[in-house]
Amino acid sequence: MLEQAHTDVLVIGAGIAGLMAARTLTEQGLKVIVVERGEVPGGRMTTLQIGPGRADHGAQFITAHTPEFQIRVNRWQDEGLCFQWSTGWSSGSLGTIPADGNPRYAVRGGMFRLAAHLAEGLDVRLNSRITVVSQQTKGWLALDEKGRVYSAPCVLLAIPVPLALQLLRTGQVVLNPTDRAALESIYYEPCLAGIFWINGEVRLPDPGALQQINAPVAWIADNRRKGVSPEATLITVHAGASYSRELWHLPDWQALVALESPLKRYIDYDAEIALRHLERWTHAMPAQPYPAHYLLAADLPGLVFAGDSFGRASVEGAALSGLAAAQALVETARR
Ligand SMILES: Cc1cc2nc3c(=O)[nH]c(=O)nc-3n(C[C@H](O)[C@H](O)[C@H](O)COP(=O)(O)OP(=O)(O)OC[C@H]3O[C@@H](n4cnc5c(N)ncnc54)[C@H](O)[C@@H]3O)c2cc1C
Repeated sequence: MLEQAHTDVLVIGAGIAGLMAARTLTEQGLKVIVVERGEVPGGRMTTLQIGPGRADHGAQFITAHTPEFQIRVNRWQDEGLCFQWSTGWSSGSLGTIPADGNPRYAVRGGMFRLAAHLAEGLDVRLNSRITVVSQQTKGWLALDEKGRVYSAPCVLLAIPVPLALQLLRTGQVVLNPTDRAALESIYYEPCLAGIFWINGEVRLPDPGALQQINAPVAWIADNRRKGVSPEATLITVHAGASYSRELWHLPDWQALVALESPLKRYIDYDAEIALRHLERWTHAMPAQPYPAHYLLAADLPGLVFAGDSFGRASVEGAALSGLAAAQALVETARR
């Protein structure tokens, strides 16, 4: 027997965009199901457990450039979830941090905690990878790889746009040519992330992270000093987009050797690397996001695109996209 579920709004993707949208829609009295292919919610806001330690290996910090998002960050700070980590990053010198004054926030215990907090009380169906989205006489149908069927008058695609387009193509959904051209122009940069568990001293500049925007290795952070991993020193290293593309074809061990190399400068000579882990982010950052917070598909009632492909490519951008898309959907879903 096929497992079937009907709801007012089906949200595909439990990243911050999908979760913010689902919360808003639920608060408006709508029935919402969030489907997520992963074992936990959060998407790119994720924290990896390695041995006794933890490492944020996707998003590293949160910024708030709008009053709307700042209010939420302030609330998360009051609730003890977020804290201000820094106001700027060193580019690698062991001297002082060039503070630009903009607060960067981190999540106590790791980024995944914020997603878990936002998912509380929502109907989130984990381990449910949607493989096709198709249009029905009334509304939309989505099927996951285990054969579960979800139907709803409205579908919010809160996943990277290239993945959303693939689901619609499989379901033979024909987008209006203008929408299609705009969506097909959105592409993502990759990121190779290395996590290194180190037994010994690591001396990164304060507050335990450095950022080198145009360098091959763009980011190095100490999760212990960040407060995410009190039990073990886990270091996150991110390659920049072009270096990630350059290393992508290499086997994991070779890519890890390349990511480890700039880290060595900050590790004591007798420190031991107990474990190395590589994460390949195919859709790390949208290179050219759509200029608005969401896209309501023309001629396809109830189909909406959201996520960090819309607006600003960041946690904040994705959150604001989810919020705006939900507001736009409320009226459609109530009809
Ligand atoms: C390495 C890295 C570092 C970053 N650093 C920062 C940073 O420091 N600060 C910052 O602001 N931003 C950072 N970002 C960007 C930030 O993480 C994203 O902009 C934001 O988290 C995107 O949220 P989202 O909800 O749009 O998408 P996602 O978080 O990608 O959520 C989409 C969800 O959809 C799920 N999904 C996908 N396909 C399907 C399917 N077919 N069926 C069901 N579920 C599906 C995914 O599993 C995922 O959980 C970073 C990203 C990466 C990868």
